[in-house]
Amino acid sequence: MSGGDNVNKLVNLFEGEGAACDEFGCAIPGAEDGQEAGGETEAADSQAGLKAGAEAAGAEAGPKAETVSARRAILPGATIGVLGGGQLGRMLAHAGNRLGYRFVTLDPTPDSPCGQTAAQIVAAYDDREAARELAQRSDVITYEFENVDAGVAEMLERESYVPQGSKLLYTTQHRLREKQAVEQAGAQVAPYAEIESLAGLQEAAARLGLPAVLKTATGGYDGKGQWVLRSEDELATAWEEASRAGTQLVLEKFIVFDKEISVIAGRSPSGEVKTFPPAENIHVHNILHLSIVPARISDKVRAEAEKLAVSIAETLGAVGLIAVEMFLTADGELYVNELAPRPHNSGHYTMEACRTSQFEQHVRAICDLPLGDPSLLTSVVMANILGEHMEPLLEWMGEKDAAAEKLGVEVKVHLYGKAEAKHKRKMGHLNVLAPNVDAALEWIAQSKIWRV
Ligand code: AMP
Repeated sequence: MSGGDNVNKLVNLFEGEGAACDEFGCAIPGAEDGQEAGGETEAADSQAGLKAGAEAAGAEAGPKAETVSARRAILPGATIGVLGGGQLGRMLAHAGNRLGYRFVTLDPTPDSPCGQTAAQIVAAYDDREAARELAQRSDVITYEFENVDAGVAEMLERESYVPQGSKLLYTTQHRLREKQAVEQAGAQVAPYAEIESLAGLQEAAARLGLPAVLKTATGGYDGKGQWVLRSEDELATAWEEASRAGTQLVLEKFIVFDKEISVIAGRSPSGEVKTFPPAENIHVHNILHLSIVPARISDKVRAEAEKLAVSIAETLGAVGLIAVEMFLTADGELYVNELAPRPHNSGHYTMEACRTSQFEQHVRAICDLPLGDPSLLTSVVMANILGEHMEPLLEWMGEKDAAAEKLGVEVKVHLYGKAEAKHKRKMGHLNVLAPNVDAALEWIAQSKIWRV
């Protein structure tokens, strides 16, 4: 069967627009002779999808790395493999299921948040055999965290279709590489220096000025692997602790910011790019607490932040979502702090507040479907639920909420299905939809959920 026949069969099945499929290959799950899309067995569907995809894309047998950048739409009925079974994978699967995609995830924890809504391969992230199985069962592979083992990423690229590629992962896994890439995209980062010795740290601290932040180049998140240095006396101790991490170090000038904001951009292999409205982010103990949207920033800053996110997505050749976290100073300067090549906690507000959620957009982008409209439908504040907030949250859920009615807010609950409510563990989030952000913030301020 030729790729063209497959396309026609699929178009008939789904009554979709087939014109675009004639321009480039389409992966068509379950569309081999005698099989219908959405057939009985997952494995059979996936195999068929892979084969049809390779035929349609004109790929020869053998290494498929060259086909990665080839433009090809993955249509509903296909299986999306997700490396990582956390909440981001779970919400991705919810959004993708709605569009008719199937999901399989690889995660070491049985009954993972994503595994509750998708098939799961229980194995370590660096287990090559398990990664190979994920590749065999998937038509397209994505990841929900960036610290993917380099060998596994390379193998998945060779043996499956990973439209995001491994280059962006390589860049964002390392703060120094990431900063250089951001600068190449025309955005500024906090002045920084690579640190290789205590003498180097002392020299850089004198040059950049204190306070400054010493960070491990790899592996840090939610403020882990960071030391805020306020005086010269602290340098030796910080060096001693940080150098034990066994990774390169970077010293950043401390940016006295007015606000932290983030913009999430979606980009497809075809080059279409769309940004979600900037979120204003409030952290507590370095963990995201609130995302306020619309962010309370000027139109000029909003436009500039969106422009930077587009430029970064394009310069880095991102496919899928890329979240750009920035500091905004009182005089309107934007400094890019961090990138994440995946759905982001500060984009959870999009689930009810935008015409298209970040999760649907990621699915659309990696599958090379036209991107959805990211426009904001309502003011919203997203508030994270950590382990310590679970008890008051569940209590509140059983009660009628007079304050919500009075303030005109609608609170949407998202819980991730994690068995153990550990302290500081992200268990879920609330999207507080409101007539304006002040009403949402007022509801959060009077709620007992975060008073623990
Ligand atoms: P990161 O892990 O790089 O996202 O940093 C965690 C948090 O630490 C950020 O959200 C900021 O609140 C703060 N932070 C990190 N780097 C700096 C910096 N150079 N200047 C000021 N605050 C920073």
